[in-house]
Amino acid sequence: MSDRSSPAATFTPPPRISSIVGGRIGGLAGGFEIPVINPANEAQISTLREDGAEEVDAAVRAARAAFDTTDWPKLELGERKAIIRRALDHVRGHADELAYLDCLDTGVPLWDIRGRKIGRVLENFDFFLEVASTAAGQTFQQNPKYITYVTHEPVGVAAILAPWNSPMSLASMQIAPALAFGNTVVVKPSEQTPVSLYRLVELLIEGGIPAGVINLVNGRGPVTGAALVEHPGVDLVKFIGGTETGRSIMASAAKGLKKVGLELGGKSANIIFADADPEDALNGALLGIYSNNGQQCLAGSRILVQRSIAEDFIARFVERVKKIRVGDPLDPKTEIGPLAFKQHYERVLSYVDIAVGQGAKLLVGGERAPGFEKGNYLSPTAVLAPSNDLRVCQEEIFGPFATFLIFDEVEDAIRIANETKFGLVGYVWTQNIDTAMRVSQGMRTGTVWVNSPLVREVRAPFGGFKESGIGRDSAMGALEFYTEEKTTTIPIEKLTLRKIGLG
Ligand code: NAD
Repeated sequence: MSDRSSPAATFTPPPRISSIVGGRIGGLAGGFEIPVINPANEAQISTLREDGAEEVDAAVRAARAAFDTTDWPKLELGERKAIIRRALDHVRGHADELAYLDCLDTGVPLWDIRGRKIGRVLENFDFFLEVASTAAGQTFQQNPKYITYVTHEPVGVAAILAPWNSPMSLASMQIAPALAFGNTVVVKPSEQTPVSLYRLVELLIEGGIPAGVINLVNGRGPVTGAALVEHPGVDLVKFIGGTETGRSIMASAAKGLKKVGLELGGKSANIIFADADPEDALNGALLGIYSNNGQQCLAGSRILVQRSIAEDFIARFVERVKKIRVGDPLDPKTEIGPLAFKQHYERVLSYVDIAVGQGAKLLVGGERAPGFEKGNYLSPTAVLAPSNDLRVCQEEIFGPFATFLIFDEVEDAIRIANETKFGLVGYVWTQNIDTAMRVSQGMRTGTVWVNSPLVREVRAPFGGFKESGIGRDSAMGALEFYTEEKTTTIPIEKLTLRKIGLG
C-alpha cells in the first residue's frame, strides 16, 4: 500500500557531499564543485565536491584493505548477517528521512518513495541475506577415486555505479548481494542525485558496517566513475545506467579483465490486442509509461495497439492523461513530479519537435505543465507514430512520453516489438492464451509481462537481451556475479601415481 499522507516532518540534506572512505566522512579538500538542485523549485539543496583519481584511489584502497586484511570476507555468515541486520535497523529508523531526501533530489512523488522504494531497499537486504544463507555448492563423485566439490568465495572489491532515476533502490539491489556474499564495495551515485544514496551509505556505516567494507565516491561519470572503473584494485563492476555509457564502461573494465554486469536502457513494447480487458490494458499502459515520472528503464514506452480498437483506446488514453495530476512531489495528490534535472527535461521536451518533424501526431502534452514557472514540470505526453523507424520509436526518451504505433496481426506486433536495439522487457495484453504464448515466446526481451505491468519478481532473473545489458539480477544471478566458484578435488583413498623421471 502506498502511504499517501503528507510528510510528517521535513529533513535537511547534508550541506556538502563528497566521499566516505574507510568510515571517514568528508574526503579531501578542494576540487570541482557541483550544485545539487531540487528539480521541483530549482533551489540548491547541497553541494557535491567531486572526488578525483586520488580520492577514488583512497576509496578502493580502503575497500581492498577491508577485503584482504580483515575477517569480513571469511566471517561465519551468521555473524555477517547480524552486522548487516543491525545496520539495517538503523536505516529503518531513518526511513522517513531517506524518503524525503530522495524526493527532494529526484522529484519522484514522496508517497511513492515511502510506499514502495524504501520498502524495496530494506527487502533487498533481507532477500539477499536469505539467498546467501541458502546458497550451496556442488559435489561430483562420478569418478569413484575422487571427490570434487565446488565452493563459492567472494570476488573482492565491487564498484557499483548507480543511475539517477531510482538511486537508493537500484543501488541497494547491488550493495545487498555484494555485502551478503562477503565482498567489499565502492559505490558511486549519479552526480545528478547523490543525496539519498550518500545518506544511505552513511547510515549503514553508522549502523555498524565495518570501516572500509562500504565506501562511496561522488562526481561526474567521466571523472570519478571512469577512475573507479579503471582502478586496478577493483575486481568487478556493476553498472546501472545508459547503454552508451555501458559500452564505454565495458571497454574500460575489459582492460583489467574485470567481471562486468550491465543493466542498461530499454524501449519496450506494450502490445494491446483487441481482445484485451479494456480497463486493465488502459490502466497498465498508463502505469507502464508514466510511473516514476516516466523515468524508468522498464517503461512501456512504445504502445502498440491493434487497429480495430486503436482509435477508441487512444482516445480513452488521452482523456486519462489529461487528468493526471502533475505537481509538487511532496504533495500526496501528485502523480507525476518534475523530471530529475533541467538538461534532462529539455532533452525529453526536444523529442516533441523531433517526433512531429518526422511525421508523428502529437496527441497530448508536449509542453511545460501549465501553472509552473519553475521546476522541471512536463505535461505527460503521447504521440502517434506512422512507423517504428522514427527516432521516438528507436531512442530511449526516459520521460513521461508515450509513442503509439498501430498494428494488424500478431506477427506484425512481434516484428515491430523486436525492431529495436534494446531488449529489456515486453508487455502483452490479451485474453487469448494462444496470443499471449506466441507473443511472449516471440519477444526478444529479458522479461515479459502478460496482462500485468511492472511486476518485479526479485527471485527471477531481470536483465536485458541485446543492448539492454549483460547478466541478470536474481538469486542465482547474484550468486554467480558476486562470488567466484572454486573447484577442489581430493582423492578418496591413497593414489597409485604414475611415476616419471625415473630414467
Ligand atoms: P548514465 O549512464 O548517464 O549514468 C549512470 C552512472 O554512470 C552515473 O553514476 C554516472 O555518473 C556514471 N557514468 C557516466 N559516465 C561514466 C563513465 N564514462 N565512466 C564511469 N561512470 C560513468 O545513466 P543515467 O542517465 O544516470 O540513468 C539513466 C539510464 O539508466 C537509462 O538509460 C535507463 O534505462 C538506465 N537504467 C537501467 C536500469 C536497468 O535495470 N536496466 C535501471 C535504471 C536505469
